[in-house]
Amino acid sequence: MSDFNPHTNIENKDKELDGIVRPQELEDFTGQNEIVSNLNVYIKAAKMRGEALDHTLFHGPPGLGKTTLAHIIANEMGVNMKITSGPILDKPGDLAGLLTSLETGDVLFIDEIHRLSSEVEEYLYSAMEDYVIDIMIDKGPGARSVRISLNPFTLVGATTRSGLLTAPLRERFGINCALEYYNTDDLVRIIERSAGILKVKIEHQAAKEIALRSRGTPRIANSLLRRVRDFAQVMGDGKVDIDIAKYSLNKLNIDTRGLDTIDNKILKTIITTFKGGPVGANTIATAIGEDQGTLEEVYEPFLIKEGFIIRTPRGRVATELSYKHLGMDEYLLTNNYGNSLF
Ligand code: ADP
Repeated sequence: MSDFNPHTNIENKDKELDGIVRPQELEDFTGQNEIVSNLNVYIKAAKMRGEALDHTLFHGPPGLGKTTLAHIIANEMGVNMKITSGPILDKPGDLAGLLTSLETGDVLFIDEIHRLSSEVEEYLYSAMEDYVIDIMIDKGPGARSVRISLNPFTLVGATTRSGLLTAPLRERFGINCALEYYNTDDLVRIIERSAGILKVKIEHQAAKEIALRSRGTPRIANSLLRRVRDFAQVMGDGKVDIDIAKYSLNKLNIDTRGLDTIDNKILKTIITTFKGGPVGANTIATAIGEDQGTLEEVYEPFLIKEGFIIRTPRGRVATELSYKHLGMDEYLLTNNYGNSLF
């Protein structure tokens, strides 16, 4: 059976289901308690004043709910939302077209906002600050700039790499929220809610088993639930019990700590090829044939959070936990683990 990579194995059908289980209101959004309670206040206050909500930035690893929160904001504010992304929006003209189509209070959601071109980004500054854009008409000696007023709107930006945002752009967001990985209890709630919507019968213990292996990420939790549902349908009576959950997760090569094949490959490569580290991210990426950005945005944050690797000034080091997790204790001595930390 081929390996399951929940980061990339998202089929079109899954995207459809993603939409079905996506919470529509703040009340249905589990976890991220501080962000949710603050947003609740900001939304209520903006509505009382009859103003657009302040521009809002969500940052954090993929699948934690940035897009969902953007939808919820538009929904709770009772406005429409236009969706685009940094790499798609490559011409200032496209941005101008989008901005002028917004009605008062509407939300413009820009995913991967760190990937905007600097030219487009500069147009955004005046749009965000004063709700105007200056468009250049004609070229050469006849060129002149025309100022266009926009309806007040809310820009919601999402990024997995807030470090790559320029300071002028970051400063123009009045609300700035860092999403964290979810704890097991929250993930269990999310899985049980999604199971209810998808009409899948699931034992609490089974939901917990899926939650434990979901890398703290709702998108992965939902994605695993759907795959486990397939196994339950074909191999049993459709009910997800703990045995079916464990069996299917093992078949999907998701280990007991929630690490998938690529996570384990990263750890193994650091330990065997680079003597446990320190080793640079680009070197690891090349060695495992992954893109460096994906390694840094998708895999590394979770491995660091769970204590499998640490960042030192000289590069990444696999911790003792990694050796134990992979059953490679014998490498601890030969790799001179203690010294590699400094
Ligand atoms: P991001 O934009 O951060 O990559 P999304 O907002 O697209 O993540 O979330 C991925 C999926 O996970 C969504 O389809 C949604 O159903 C689910 N999800 C995310 N956060 C939550 C949450 N807090 N509660 C319930 N479901 C969530």
